[in-house]
Amino acid sequence: MIQFGFNPAPKPSYRRRKPTTKMRGRISSEVYNKAMVRSGGRCERCGSVEGLQCAHLIRRWKIDGETTVNDVAMLCGPSVNSGTCHNWIDYTAAGREWAAEFRQQLYDQDKE
Ligand SMILES: [Zn+2]
Repeated sequence: MIQFGFNPAPKPSYRRRKPTTKMRGRISSEVYNKAMVRSGGRCERCGSVEGLQCAHLIRRWKIDGETTVNDVAMLCGPSVNSGTCHNWIDYTAAGREWAAEFRQQLYDQDKE
């Protein structure tokens, strides 16, 4: 006689040692809100209030652990439109440099 037992595949009990890039790149609502307060609701580069987006200052895969408020900036967007600051930091060398410096300043301010 064949018995059809309920044999669910065991769920993995281990925890991932390293969060995935997607997890690391996730901007929590807390981080978003902090960035919004810091920016005063304006683009942190040019001061525009148009199409603000919470932009990563660093490539997601370079982030250790979770995205913090120091890894992001409120920038005018959308990132797909050239001429916006979000587009600038994502797609130009000068923009990436600015983003890296801006991020460093944020971390330095935290230490004080
Ligand atoms: Zn801007």
